Amino acid sequence: MRWFAETAETIAATTSKLKKIAALSGYFNRIADDDLRAAATFLTGRPFPLHDVRTLNVGWSALGSALKEISGASDEAIHKVYLDRADLGEVAERLLSSGTVSALSPAQVLTRLEGLVGISNVAKKVRQLTELLRALTPMEAKYVIKMITSDLRIGLKEATVEEAIAVAFNQPADAVRRANMALGDIGETAVLARHGHLAHVSLRLFRPLKFMLAAPAGSEQEIFDNFTGPFFVEDKYDGIRGQLHIGPERSALFSRTLDEVSHQFPEIVESARSMESAMILDGEVVAWNDGQVLPFSLLQKRLGRNRPSDSLMMDIPVAFMIFDVLFANGRTLIDCPLDERKRLLDGMAWPAGLYLAPFRLVDKRIPLEPFFAEAEGRRNEGLMVKAADSPYAPGKRGMNWMKWKKALATLDVVVTGVEFGHGRRRGVLSDYTFAVQHEGTLLNIGKAYSGLTDKEILEMTAYFKEHTIRDFGRFRLVEPNVVIEVAFNGLQKSNRHESGYALRFPRIVRIRTDKRVSDIDSLDNVQKIDERKQ
Ligand code: AMP
Repeated sequence: MRWFAETAETIAATTSKLKKIAALSGYFNRIADDDLRAAATFLTGRPFPLHDVRTLNVGWSALGSALKEISGASDEAIHKVYLDRADLGEVAERLLSSGTVSALSPAQVLTRLEGLVGISNVAKKVRQLTELLRALTPMEAKYVIKMITSDLRIGLKEATVEEAIAVAFNQPADAVRRANMALGDIGETAVLARHGHLAHVSLRLFRPLKFMLAAPAGSEQEIFDNFTGPFFVEDKYDGIRGQLHIGPERSALFSRTLDEVSHQFPEIVESARSMESAMILDGEVVAWNDGQVLPFSLLQKRLGRNRPSDSLMMDIPVAFMIFDVLFANGRTLIDCPLDERKRLLDGMAWPAGLYLAPFRLVDKRIPLEPFFAEAEGRRNEGLMVKAADSPYAPGKRGMNWMKWKKALATLDVVVTGVEFGHGRRRGVLSDYTFAVQHEGTLLNIGKAYSGLTDKEILEMTAYFKEHTIRDFGRFRLVEPNVVIEVAFNGLQKSNRHESGYALRFPRIVRIRTDKRVSDIDSLDNVQKIDERKQ
């Protein structure tokens, strides 16, 4: 572990990514496979690989007891050093004697950590932990403790470890990233990279991979601006994300945190067993009855339980709405375009409890609002829109998937300031700062730059140029005459605006030519919405 600790020190001491990669790749090249497997994982701040569900269950109290035992320091002394440094690893380095000779390798440390997993007796756990720490030098103990507490704090991202593996073993960085994503195991990835075996890596059943995420869209306009080609529109279900692995002998459901939650939803997992082909599906678990989604508040009663009672399962049945497939019949599908994955899903028969989430392909500009209303009618919370040609990007919140949630409420506000836009909107006044009223004054609450048509923006530009109070160049204070209705996705207290609130994803629903400034919403209304938290 001496080289490991020295490498960690070097990485912590530099902000240069290149230097970090050089130190890491040099280190990886010097060590044997077993150590490489353990060390690469340790360097991501974990004792075990990402896909591995084992936990050490070693907290501050066990570590504190072990350190006390070894160093003879008092509770107060440990506490004081801890307060001083706020990092248990650093505390250990300071307390432990420097007489120990480095003897354990990363692989041996891993074996000892694995030994801690099954121990439920606290005294026994502390004893073994103490033995492990005793066998380490202060600097080594520092990093082992940091790793045990899942916080290396040396300024090292997993992506940098991947790059270092690529450099060390002369492999394409992309191949390393893909293998790590598929395996959820950077240690194994490193060993495969060393032996030139990255090309054969495919997804594996019962090894969950990170979920693809969506970027928020504020309006129909934003969606059409974002997608250049056809996209799928589907309901955004209000449930919990799930990854269903179906194998020949068993099936399992994993949550967004990659924890196995099969026991919480036995009916889904059971139902999946009747499928003939091996598959990994992405979808949403929803409370479900009579072909209808039930409110999230009901699903909540099914969460966090070890195993639901029969009566709870009767009262609140669940279903799995499938919207993607990542692996089927031995084929990894994440690089195939979404329309191919959808076609595959569409061609399959599903047992009760597993349903294909309906989707629609949009290949020209059509109003999306009606879909929104339909989704709402089905008690879903909005729409998901996904580029038809997009691969599945695990763990990424990119622009290939967008989520468009329902507005919580709308506010009528008055425009107080306007600004020239960007890109296509460079020459027009398209960004509007707006205010609510409070005891005879106007208080700004937000800024929106989407929702109006090009024609409306042109008209507004001409109007605001005529009604400018003060011209600051890019920004103009304008006469507060124009009332707009804005939708938003949330409300939060903020010092950014005079009103003391800020809106999340505000967008203009329409210009309210039928309203005057005296008709706009007041700060009191905003406070009410905040209290309702709707
Ligand atoms: P949010 O939680 O607001 O970031 O929205 C993203 C979440 O919406 C995902 O993680 C899923 O749990 C959920 N979701 C519901 N319906 C879909 C769908 N059709 N496609 C993808 N995600 C969905």
